[in-house]
Amino acid sequence: MAKFIFVTGGVLSSLGKGIAASAIGALLEARGLKVTLQKLDPYINVDPGTLSPFQHGEVFVTDDGAETDLDIGHYERFTHIRTSQANNYTTGKIYYNVITKERRGDYLGDTVQVIPHITDEIKRAIKSVSNNYDVVIVEIGGTIGDIESLPFLEAIRQMRYDVGRENVLYVHLTLVPYIKTSGEIKTKPSQHSIRELRAIGIQADLLLCRTDRPITPEAKKKIAIHCNLDMDAVITAMDVDTVYEVPLALNAEGLDQQIINKLKLDTKDASASDRLMQWKDIVRKIKEPREEVNIAIVGKYVGLKDSYKSLIEALTHGGIANDAKVNLQWIDSEEIEVHGAEKYLAEADGILVPGGFGYRGIEGKIEAVKYAREKKIPYFGICLGMQCAVIEYARNVCGLKANSTEFDLNTKDPVIYLMERWFDFRKGRVEERTDASEKGGTMRLGAYPCVIEKGTNADRAYGVKEISERHRHRYEFNNAYKGILTRLGMKISGTSPDGELVEIIEMENHPWFLGCQFHPEFKSRPTEPHPLFREFIGAALREKRSLFPYAGTAHEADKSEKEKLS
Ligand code: GLN
Repeated sequence: MAKFIFVTGGVLSSLGKGIAASAIGALLEARGLKVTLQKLDPYINVDPGTLSPFQHGEVFVTDDGAETDLDIGHYERFTHIRTSQANNYTTGKIYYNVITKERRGDYLGDTVQVIPHITDEIKRAIKSVSNNYDVVIVEIGGTIGDIESLPFLEAIRQMRYDVGRENVLYVHLTLVPYIKTSGEIKTKPSQHSIRELRAIGIQADLLLCRTDRPITPEAKKKIAIHCNLDMDAVITAMDVDTVYEVPLALNAEGLDQQIINKLKLDTKDASASDRLMQWKDIVRKIKEPREEVNIAIVGKYVGLKDSYKSLIEALTHGGIANDAKVNLQWIDSEEIEVHGAEKYLAEADGILVPGGFGYRGIEGKIEAVKYAREKKIPYFGICLGMQCAVIEYARNVCGLKANSTEFDLNTKDPVIYLMERWFDFRKGRVEERTDASEKGGTMRLGAYPCVIEKGTNADRAYGVKEISERHRHRYEFNNAYKGILTRLGMKISGTSPDGELVEIIEMENHPWFLGCQFHPEFKSRPTEPHPLFREFIGAALREKRSLFPYAGTAHEADKSEKEKLS
């Protein structure tokens, strides 16, 4: 039977609860345990699909087409799991299920209440992911003290009684701030937050203290006494340079050993050191890369990095695969519309147009594609970025009056449009939709198969004939324009198995130009960088080297300076 670790957070949000939960996952996997993670989010939206990326960051998409919280992305990057819709529940989804059951008459006339009906539904959701795993790590969204998270906390409190004391562990993440004026760290916020938790009936077993400096043994002792904990249950979670260092930092603090002891976990690997080597190597490549490369990201929400979380991580992974630092240059495509592409893209070794929705800034993105194509700078277009590449080619090479019907319903040449009828491989049935279809309902969501053409960039990257990648879009490549586009030099290097849906396009006579209708960033991991990101960064590095054959990194230059001095 699986054991459960519940991760809660106190004091304030954004302390990195998702990363802490993921790092625990990585550490337990390094001990040879089978681990899965789940997030319980306290908001009422049934899923984050309808949330603005301005408010909530990226929507992470799973194989089964669930639109989930961005923390689910961390879970997949830090461990080996592939998540599904069961890995993310919101209050909205829990209530939705309960109300659906009530309407169906499942409660046989009972008065439906938060306790036990909502809490039972939450416990059912938690247990639903536990089959075949040694440990389930459940992260509770929000902060202790929020009204919204109370039913979740009550449910995890009950879990200890349901599955046995020895099978449940409560980990609480808190902030231990340093106050400059008094020159000391403060433990009071942690004391309050632990007390609040205890008032709900949960005694934390382990306390993770987020801090920017080491916590002295005296301070640890103080926290331990006030929080009713053993001193070694107070764990320092110090700020680190990259999130991928968190598993190593927590391991050095003895966190995984504590968890193993407390849950009496049966670990085959006494020492995790071999598997932790992999994380050490990743961190080394991030902190001391041999080369560096500039990648321009031309987008709309460039001010809000959380809406590009997986993309940023996947680019970092592409850097790891090439032992290179990836410097990101965030370019607002509307600026390009005003001042032209040259001003913003002249320094870029590679240009990327990511996914997006809506007309704003589109013309700037199309200009960025033109610049990359003409100046032969490696280009990577993802979803909307592929659609922009098709529009650009249709307009500037084929002389069409092209657009996507998302931006101009009456465009003369709708090279990107809503496909009325197509065979949905995932659902195994024909799908139909029109411009009048209900919003959300018409998206192509989740993993779809794609067959790769031999001898293309896609083939060189993946090295297999058929792949599966995740989608989140409504519009598709219009096959009516396949003839003219490919005759004039565009290559179609990936399609659905029936050839109907164009999934990857490339350009002839270009160092590396690839657009894909799916989101490869969702499947990249630091331990397994995604092939397309690896190849894109590799191509950008080759371009840079051919322009500046003697350039190294600042780091290497530093080293040789030091060598000269010594
Ligand atoms: N807006 C485009 C579509 O719906 C692209 C979506 C995306 O980039 N995720 O097809």
